[in-house]
Amino acid sequence: MATNSAEGIRWDLNDLFAAHNDPRIEATLTECYARAEAFEKRFRTPMEQSETLTATVVLHALQELESLYEALGRVGSYAGLLYAADTASPAYRDLEQRVEQRSTEIRNQLLFFELHWLKCDEGIADRLIVDPLLSNYKHYLANLRRYRLHTLTEPEEKVINEKDNTGRNAFGRLFSEITSGLTFSLEKENQKEELNLSQILSLLHEPDRALRRRAMETLYEGLSQHGQVLTFTYDTLIQDHLTMDRLRAYPHPMSQRHLFNEIDDEAVKAMMGVTESNYGLGQDYFRLKAKLLQLPRLALYDQYAPVGKEVRPFPYSQAQQVILEAFESFDPSFRQLATEFFAKNWIDAEIRKGKRGGAFCASPSPQLHPYILCNYDDNLRDVMTVAHELGHGMHGCLSRDQNYFNYDTPLTTAETASVFAEMLVFDYLLGQQTDPQAQIALVTGKIEDIFATVFRQNVLTRFEELAFSARKETRLTPDTLGNLWIEANGRYYGDAVEIPDGYRWGWSYIPHFIHSRFYCYSYVFGQLLVLALYRMYKDQGKSFVPKYLTLLEAGGSDSPEKLLKPLGVDIHNPEFWQKGFEEVHTLTTKLTELI
Ligand SMILES: [Zn+2]
Repeated sequence: MATNSAEGIRWDLNDLFAAHNDPRIEATLTECYARAEAFEKRFRTPMEQSETLTATVVLHALQELESLYEALGRVGSYAGLLYAADTASPAYRDLEQRVEQRSTEIRNQLLFFELHWLKCDEGIADRLIVDPLLSNYKHYLANLRRYRLHTLTEPEEKVINEKDNTGRNAFGRLFSEITSGLTFSLEKENQKEELNLSQILSLLHEPDRALRRRAMETLYEGLSQHGQVLTFTYDTLIQDHLTMDRLRAYPHPMSQRHLFNEIDDEAVKAMMGVTESNYGLGQDYFRLKAKLLQLPRLALYDQYAPVGKEVRPFPYSQAQQVILEAFESFDPSFRQLATEFFAKNWIDAEIRKGKRGGAFCASPSPQLHPYILCNYDDNLRDVMTVAHELGHGMHGCLSRDQNYFNYDTPLTTAETASVFAEMLVFDYLLGQQTDPQAQIALVTGKIEDIFATVFRQNVLTRFEELAFSARKETRLTPDTLGNLWIEANGRYYGDAVEIPDGYRWGWSYIPHFIHSRFYCYSYVFGQLLVLALYRMYKDQGKSFVPKYLTLLEAGGSDSPEKLLKPLGVDIHNPEFWQKGFEEVHTLTTKLTELI
């Protein structure tokens, strides 16, 4: 890219460690190992016998565990962040791997605690869960018990953990290394350019149709060259999941994810079913967009073509200002929190070779602040990405009063704060605009964003379901995966969008499939939930704010269903999910009025 206003915006990891060879890293690992050994000596026997398994014992054990995990998390986060910022550095890669290995050893030493807790008598567990001494850990302890039937013996769990480093985790690393090392050579304005994955994806938003088509062709051509390895990797990981599901007695490939997400199959089915029944809304929009672009029919590479007049370029400093003002209009405390991220260099925004693509926010623990990585490319979409990750960051900051075990939210609600933050910035920008063409650009951008989060992620989840059931029969080939991908996408795009043949590789670079299966429906959940919540905010005004803040402050201290109840949300009710689509409908109506 010719200009990049985020150049030099790098995060400062010095409050974690000074460098990859900081001796404190090794010292922390050694200390954690010793503490883990001491932990085992102190708690194994009392945890084993019902007479000695008292609330005091459990409390002391949990407090020590928290403090150990904090220390270990500091090292793990540092290694992970360093590596994400430069995946090409052998030193960082080594550190990441070494820390992973050592952490596994330490976690293995501590494993008996959870396993004994799972093994203990129903009567004792029930009594301890409601003991006032353990009230801060109630949700954690009760939650763990749900894994009772899916947990193996301690030696088995240890072997799995150790073998995973050279098994499934290694395949995950292989995938990361391949996808972050990808370069695509593309002719642009009569010059050959070498682009990485996020840069070439961003060309799909360019106004020049021929360029978009070339970018898409080049993308899939490039991916197909790694097709064998990418297919092999995905196939192996699915098989690994299926094996583990059998060993752990999970009835269904999605069951484990539902358990993590603290959500049941019925709620997910209701949500995905309602989403699918609204695919027509997507197709109507694609037909409308074809008209806007004066095309007989939309091609896939036109999906994100700009319409109207986009405010562009959108320098990083302006993004910062807009986000802060939008947050302030919601609540001054939001602005205050977000300001810290910019002022204290908790964000790594510049585009660099070897840096991980996409964006994420890491919130390691209540005692550490969150860190954000993104690849800022001076456009509105990236403003939204920064807002999104800052939303995660806010959530991470607001829930810092929770203890370690209550800090993280399950994936289902993990995307609430992020998507809500995007809505705030969107509304703020729309309110500032008077030019109808700029409004069109904003509204279409928002609609397409929502589609990417709701419809597309639903499609991705359906694809995973198809891939898992196909793998039960036979090994997956590029052909099978390509067919399943086209099948799942076909239901969404219908005949409203022309699908190029190369799109058969569209599944192959999606990290969620590799690193966290069935992650994608959480995006659907998060987006639809937020659309409904945002409507409540508009209806209720400022009285909504404290309820929302309470939700974020609660972190993961209870199940999403329970935390959302005070806000009037019923996740089992299809009508609730349909509410989200009514908001989408409001947006498409607004667009029709503008054109
Ligand atoms: Zn997110």
